[in-house]
Amino acid sequence: MDPADLTLSAGPNDVFPEVRAAMGGPVLYHYDPVFKERFRATEAAVGRIFGSDRHEIILMQGEAILGLEAAARSLATRGTPCLNLVSGVFGKGFGMWLSAIGAELHEIEVPYDDVIDPDAVAAYLDAHPAIKVVSVVHSETPSGTVNPVDRIGPICRSRGVVTVVDAVSSYGGIELRPDEWQLDLIVAGPQKCLGGPPGMSLMAISPEAWAAIEANPDAPRGSFLSILDYRDLWHGEGRFPFTPSVPEVMGVLAAAELLLATGVDAVLARHERVARACRAGVAAMGLRLWAASETTAAASVTSIRVPDGITDIQVRDHARATYGVQLSAGQGAGNIIRIGHMGATARPAYAIAGLAAVGQTMRDLGATADVGAGVAAAMASLATTAPGGTA
Ligand SMILES: *Cc1c(COP(=O)(O)O)cnc(C)c1O
Repeated sequence: MDPADLTLSAGPNDVFPEVRAAMGGPVLYHYDPVFKERFRATEAAVGRIFGSDRHEIILMQGEAILGLEAAARSLATRGTPCLNLVSGVFGKGFGMWLSAIGAELHEIEVPYDDVIDPDAVAAYLDAHPAIKVVSVVHSETPSGTVNPVDRIGPICRSRGVVTVVDAVSSYGGIELRPDEWQLDLIVAGPQKCLGGPPGMSLMAISPEAWAAIEANPDAPRGSFLSILDYRDLWHGEGRFPFTPSVPEVMGVLAAAELLLATGVDAVLARHERVARACRAGVAAMGLRLWAASETTAAASVTSIRVPDGITDIQVRDHARATYGVQLSAGQGAGNIIRIGHMGATARPAYAIAGLAAVGQTMRDLGATADVGAGVAAAMASLATTAPGGTA
């Protein structure tokens, strides 16, 4: 199969040409003044996209799972009462780390096509005042849904509870306001809406989160997972705890600068416009969104129910082999096929190609789908939301 075929997965996807070019530059010594300046510029650009002056930016070297596990181990130890909010696969996974650490795990779990109710979080915290940490996934990528972290943050802050937010597939594509929403430790990744490579964890950390980490005697030190070492050595002494991934840093810098040059709001609008077209196409084809409500559907990925009798893996593999479109399957969240529209792939023509590949694949595998109606509806949506259009 041709690697240059169209990748519309839930990430990583192909990156902007500027990012590829930046990653192909010289591999600098990490204490070369040029590299140190680039690293600081990357922190600054990543921070501007987070949009908070109150949060300190820590860039760790490893795919966002590293940052998430580091966050769990930094905030929780044996016996720490934690409330983990589960509306999908990534939320469930965070709870597994908390269990492995020996934390006292509390969970609110909803069906994976639904989102967390903030009132339920408030009621749970009031009934369990010992809870110190709440963890939540902003955009649950397999489900294609967005949790109301804007409301969950203030509920936690007002009760002295620190929040950990997995914003890997929302950062740079879905509105995220760490300061206004009173969120504490946010972990993002470059390989989703930023349109960068998959090798770094981008973290924004509030003073409240630092205080909680410092109060945890078992927060990692002298470890690849140590957020504290990164802060103390790099921000404190200008030394790296270990060698950063030089080409990744260059790629993330290029992606972040590209996003900022376009403007955060314009990039969020681009994601929403393509997502809306994609959802219109799904409905017109006679297929069903996975998200229980369109109001909770993510702008970064559209999750579609696969009809009974067909599996997500069959759809994914057939679309790749026959139509040259790489989609994502359900990743355990359900019988779901996913069209990613994130970063460089949040583009009108890509959504149309993704919809056509999904619809015709369903037909090839024996289900019913009106491919033409789906494509027409997506294009009609794009026409009414074009720059200068009505929305
Ligand atoms: C992509 C993603 C991650 C990182 O996990 P991988 O599957 O290893 O890429 C973490 N959380 C969310 C919500 C993600 O979308």
